[in-house]
Amino acid sequence: MLYLSTRGHPDRKHFCEILLEGLAPDGGLYLPERYPQVDAATLARWRGVFNGGAPGGYAALAFEVLSLYIDDIPAADLRAICDKTYTEAVYGTAAIVPLKKLEEGFYLEALSNGPTLAFKDMAMQLLGNLFEYELARRGEELNILGATSGDTGSAAEYAMRGKQGVRVFMLSPHGRMSPFQQAQMFSLMDENIHNIAIEGVFDDCQDIVKAVSNDLTFKRQYKIGTVNSINWARLLAQVVYYFAGFFQATSNESQKVSFTVPSGNFGNVCAGHVARQMGLPIQTLAVATNENDVLDEFFRTGVYRVRASADTHETSSPSMDISKASNFERFVFDLLGRDGARVKALFGDALSREGRFELGVDPVFAEAASHYGFVSGKSTHADRLATIKDTFERFGVVIDTHTADGVKVARAHASAEVPMIVLETALPIKFSETIVEALGRQPDRPPQFEGIEALPKRVHVMPADVVAVKNYIVQHCGDS
Ligand SMILES: *Cc1c(COP(=O)(O)O)cnc(C)c1O
Repeated sequence: MLYLSTRGHPDRKHFCEILLEGLAPDGGLYLPERYPQVDAATLARWRGVFNGGAPGGYAALAFEVLSLYIDDIPAADLRAICDKTYTEAVYGTAAIVPLKKLEEGFYLEALSNGPTLAFKDMAMQLLGNLFEYELARRGEELNILGATSGDTGSAAEYAMRGKQGVRVFMLSPHGRMSPFQQAQMFSLMDENIHNIAIEGVFDDCQDIVKAVSNDLTFKRQYKIGTVNSINWARLLAQVVYYFAGFFQATSNESQKVSFTVPSGNFGNVCAGHVARQMGLPIQTLAVATNENDVLDEFFRTGVYRVRASADTHETSSPSMDISKASNFERFVFDLLGRDGARVKALFGDALSREGRFELGVDPVFAEAASHYGFVSGKSTHADRLATIKDTFERFGVVIDTHTADGVKVARAHASAEVPMIVLETALPIKFSETIVEALGRQPDRPPQFEGIEALPKRVHVMPADVVAVKNYIVQHCGDS
């Protein structure tokens, strides 16, 4: 299997070559040359492999899916990496992603039982093991530099802690994350994890990461890398749980399911698109946004319009507060019949010049729904409160704010014939303020997080200064 760039660059690469890279050299995103096809017989065999979520089933299913896309890691090694990643010890259940039935034909798929209680663990935990494996094989090291306002940073740190050859330097805005999120990240005592609290806002953190990454000499000398959501391996890891959701909601391969996905950067739902292109019988992929409705606007009107920072709302589902959807280019590439030149014109030229492009009048736009199954919807703070309350009162289940956006939108697209699966992307304890607002009570806290706010913290506070951050990296990255 070879990978190409969505902007038409002629190079083709193997999986492990793009594993440690970000964007393709022409600024595009990597995608496989073709989607491997899974026929009904294979699907039936995989149902047996997953085995209803019995111990080891999810890891074995992950190996089946990943094997179709990775041909430069020996099978026994890849199998060992999957087995090590998806364990009951890490995810708390043998099924890893159990379905919770709310009512007939309406389910939540639990993706947030990993170490940081958000779905990003599903991919990041695999990435940590893949990075450690590949770096050891090459005899190389990597210093991961990132900026976070919450979920991504902690998922990356919990995935990379204690890993050989990897160090993490994670910038966050000083005093601006929730006490729970700060406690999650700053209580890590691992030598290879460096929390840097920047005196500024999230954008300051991101600007510093960009400035350091744009200094190519520094980047090369100090082996700077990233783990952002455009990484293909992260997306690939997410494909697996769409299959696992299907197997749990159906009893045979002639049935279909639909998914609703709380969306920000379009990474999660793009994995659903890949699963559907492989042949998984998905009827509808519903994209749920919050007030930051870049994607809902596109699927309703065909206009893709990037928001300025002033137009990006701070909401109570903060992990979906995006100004643009960084994985969306992958879907548009498929929608345009994989025309790299056109994708380059839209994402490379039109977006940087005008901040928008329009496909509404193009005949392909109708295919987003008819051929690819996409629909969308939007949810607001009031919707979240009402949905959290309704879900608790009717089913006794407390859902987090992002999942509530999903449930709200799913209601509009559910049908009696096809089961609807809403992806649960975080646990409510991470966003307890809004839960209290909706229910007048605190959400349950998983026992391993009891008293976490009182643990000692390991964090270095610094001014928003590129040189200071560079110096810190130089002093703490061991060699060179
Ligand atoms: C990151 C995140 C999302 C959005 O996922 P995308 O892949 O960016 O669309 C939704 N919910 C939670 C809790 C998240 O952490």
